[in-house]
Amino acid sequence: MTPQDYIALEDRHGAHNYHPLPVVLAEGRGVYVYDVAGKQYFDFLSAYSAVNQGHCHPRIVTALQQQAAKLALTSRAFHNDQLGPYEQYLTDYFAFDKVLPMNTGAEAVETAIKLCRKWGYEVKGIPTDRARIIVCGQNFHGRTTTIISFSSDPNARGNFGPYTPGFESIPYGDAAALRQALANDPATIAGVLVEPIQGEAGVFVPDDDYLPAVAAACREHSVLFIADEIQTGIGRTGALLRICGDCSCAGHCERQTTYTRPDILILGKALSGGTYPVSAVLADDAVMHVIRPGQHGSTFGGNPVACAVAREALQVVIDEKLTQNARRLGHLFRQRMQQLVEQYPETLVLVRGKGLLNALVINDSEDSDTAWNLCLALADRGLLAKPTHGNIIRFAPPLVISEAELLEACGIIAEAVRSRALAEI
Ligand SMILES: *Cc1c(COP(=O)(O)O)cnc(C)c1O
Repeated sequence: MTPQDYIALEDRHGAHNYHPLPVVLAEGRGVYVYDVAGKQYFDFLSAYSAVNQGHCHPRIVTALQQQAAKLALTSRAFHNDQLGPYEQYLTDYFAFDKVLPMNTGAEAVETAIKLCRKWGYEVKGIPTDRARIIVCGQNFHGRTTTIISFSSDPNARGNFGPYTPGFESIPYGDAAALRQALANDPATIAGVLVEPIQGEAGVFVPDDDYLPAVAAACREHSVLFIADEIQTGIGRTGALLRICGDCSCAGHCERQTTYTRPDILILGKALSGGTYPVSAVLADDAVMHVIRPGQHGSTFGGNPVACAVAREALQVVIDEKLTQNARRLGHLFRQRMQQLVEQYPETLVLVRGKGLLNALVINDSEDSDTAWNLCLALADRGLLAKPTHGNIIRFAPPLVISEAELLEACGIIAEAVRSRALAEI
């Protein structure tokens, strides 16, 4: 079969809910993926930062295979010998009392919302059905009915109503707007849900004092600070969690504990190194205790394969110093891209990001196809990336990338930009 044959099958038999680049991939290893003809590409999307540990990491694949062959699923009707050790490992790793295991990111966000509302009624004392959660404009938290109810993206929301009430949107990165919203009617606000960097929106990095300000304002009004680190967490931004800022404490230091520690932490994506859907909601006892037997759950959440895989995937991040690598190579990447921006101001506006979560903003409108065409030119030259919001290209390679590989990739990007710049003259 040719690539066109595979694409035609998807077109004929699959729902058209995505618009992929026209490449058909068959294998992956480390920072590389290979198409059906065997052509090698740098993967600079990493499945939206799920593959931080690199494609088909041998240790994670072994954990998956061994556990799948031994015991794959029990449901939570019974205990299993993987869940307890995993929960101990995970809560120790991120320094929280408890974890509630789920599968996908959206499920974990839903879990956090339910947990937050229940805490609001049972601990804070919000009158029945009046709880509100503050969210940010341009957010991305997933695709369920409740989550898209507070999206500002017309594509995500359009004709999926009626929408779930109880959410109030304020501008992202604006601590004053948050303080104002909290001051209005703090007694009915249960939580504030924030992405520490807005990835899908185009890698928007807030000012350094934003997250500490959010945490402080939440504490002041007895409101839960909920951090969605599904994309930013687990080394991606050069810190274990983005809420750690530029600190490499791995979540355990005094600064993080004192100033920016969220009350609820949401993880997904790289929790499994991209091999299996694993997500988690972490909180301390004072919050998590409101969930009692029968009140929330999932058939697959906390299954033995997920537990074995996630433990190995997190240990790989430590053993291979992926957080440190992301931080060091992130600086190098932005430095190279900054040179490119200065060289081609007609084509590029700016580069921004943290660690290995970065974006190039293309000098064209959101509805132009310049970024898409640049991504096609990159794919031709052996690098895969995808536009987000039309004129922004996110670059997020697996964190196992070496300096030599990163520099080679920067060369490919420079060549593609040069070819586009020439084409436009
Ligand atoms: C990807 C993502 C989600 C949703 O995760 P799914 O596994 O696709 O449901 C939620 N929040 C953020 C910040 C994400 O990047």
